[in-house]
Amino acid sequence: MDEQRAIAGEPAACVLVQELLPLYVDNEVAPATRDWMEHHLAVCPACRAAQLDMTQDILDITAPIKSLPEPVPPVADDSGQAPPWPIMTWVTWTAFAGVAGLTALVVSLLWR
Ligand SMILES: [Zn+2]
Repeated sequence: MDEQRAIAGEPAACVLVQELLPLYVDNEVAPATRDWMEHHLAVCPACRAAQLDMTQDILDITAPIKSLPEPVPPVADDSGQAPPWPIMTWVTWTAFAGVAGLTALVVSLLWR
């Protein structure tokens, strides 16, 4: 990777800073170490670039998670849809009335 090549030609401070960057980004370094790293990052473009890369990597990793659609709450399903039973009852009764009327018509014709 570019990282290995970049570290090879850089001063020991850069190697150390870039080794510690994951912890630094996660805010897991001691305050004194953090101060020293921030001072180094302020004056060292290579390490600052590495830090930005790492921050971007973390954003890239978490972005898909954050951009996932929110799960639809079950309550929304209940309130968003009309309850099935009144419709089924209406359709059932309409169909029943239609069949009954047709049957009555056929029967009345046959019994004539
Ligand atoms: Zn550096």
